[in-house]
Amino acid sequence: MMTDNPAFRRAKILCTLGPASRDPETFAALVRAGMDGVRVNFSHSSHEHAARAVELARRASSDAGRPISILADLQGPKIRVGNLSAPIQIEEGDHYLVYPEGAATPAAEDEIAVIPSTYPDLAVDLGPGDRVLFDDGKIELTVSEIRAEGVLLEALEGGVLASGKGINLPGTEVGAPSLTDKDREDARHALDLGVDYIALSFIRRQDDLNELRSLVAGRALLIAKIEMAQALRNLHGILAGADGVMVARGDLGVELDFEEVPLVQKRILRLTSETPKLGITATQMLESMIVSSRPTRAEVSDVANALLDGTDAVMLSAETAVGEHPVDSVRTMARIIRRIEREPTTADEAPGARFRGLSPVHHTVSGAIAGAAAEATERLGAPFLVTFTNSGYTARLQSAQRLAVPILAVTDQPRTWGQLALVYGVVPLRLENEATYDAMLALAREFALTNGLGSEGDSFVVTAGVPFHEPGTTNYMRIETL
Ligand code: PGA
Ligand code: MN
Repeated sequence: MMTDNPAFRRAKILCTLGPASRDPETFAALVRAGMDGVRVNFSHSSHEHAARAVELARRASSDAGRPISILADLQGPKIRVGNLSAPIQIEEGDHYLVYPEGAATPAAEDEIAVIPSTYPDLAVDLGPGDRVLFDDGKIELTVSEIRAEGVLLEALEGGVLASGKGINLPGTEVGAPSLTDKDREDARHALDLGVDYIALSFIRRQDDLNELRSLVAGRALLIAKIEMAQALRNLHGILAGADGVMVARGDLGVELDFEEVPLVQKRILRLTSETPKLGITATQMLESMIVSSRPTRAEVSDVANALLDGTDAVMLSAETAVGEHPVDSVRTMARIIRRIEREPTTADEAPGARFRGLSPVHHTVSGAIAGAAAEATERLGAPFLVTFTNSGYTARLQSAQRLAVPILAVTDQPRTWGQLALVYGVVPLRLENEATYDAMLALAREFALTNGLGSEGDSFVVTAGVPFHEPGTTNYMRIETL
């Protein structure tokens, strides 16, 4: 089997873990195929599953000599259908009464079936004429009346409804708190396990991140999942409050008209690729590979387009969690990435283009050095760039220059090493001994030579914050020879 060398791939691959990928053999095969990070989805995973995932990732990291990032994905205020004794056939034109689970079941009425919901305030947030969607939008209803005991809905599009299916309220300002008790518990558990990233679902505004930010207290990076119309209206604030965002196309395509999603994806990824923020593109990327060993041409094109839009990472969901071909799915991703990245940069990405529409972070000392390092790397035709990073910020800022060559990011911080695995263009290298300039340079040199990244005599740029470990940022740049 072909082993993917991530040093030759700039975009990263994030895989959702599940029954199809939790055994050690499959996990190891996923790493060999090019997996850079795993997502533990707390909507479907227990605390034991999370502990298992962390253990697998740690073992794989030390076997492969490269970090595998771990992302804990919190369910957030997802509204669901409560417990039904049996699935209900929803018929177009019929009425249904949705009531808060746990409250008294409304008295039976002719022709009106009752449906419990996990969110108690539907009757507060909704008004007559609002749309309500069940099961990822497969079943569509509209509010006909708000009653004391719940919300009366009329079905516009029927289907079979089972317990636990999602409820979306497109366009409605949902008043639910941003972090549920379950999210708090899951986050604490994930942080105890030492995960690298925490993602929060159904973010609506920047303030939704506040409580999580203080709970995390710097132990992980925060990813805001963009999956609601409200979040798009507050995108700049959310991006300011998070370390990265996920283009969560599954729920986004239910909350918005689906034809809006491609343009929204481009808008979000443009912002994340010009700033030191992570952009992850998610959901249905290789959906047909859940059952097929080959992707559809449309899926290949979709993955390629996310890369061309500037995504840091592409994500697999059911393909690796429950699919029949988890390893082939990762191989397929790696193949598409390698092909797109082999293409000479287009005029749009040519040197200089990156200085257009820059965010203010590039107008700082660190930003100026990252820009100068990118410029020098291109002028010299250097095969890679080396950066010494403590918190990882310098490496992420360099990544925002979207260079065509890898950034060897040397760090002595295990946490930073783990986090950088998902950042575009970054090859995290971990220094075990004392962090001196010479030790870091020796490590980067050795890696470059063993992996055939360059030949002796090649020039390359080194950036750093000197002295090391002093809070502050990059202030140093030097040209070295391999
Ligand atoms: P999910 O998030 O898989 O947790 O629902 C991603 C999405 O909605 O696309
Ligand atoms: Mn979602």
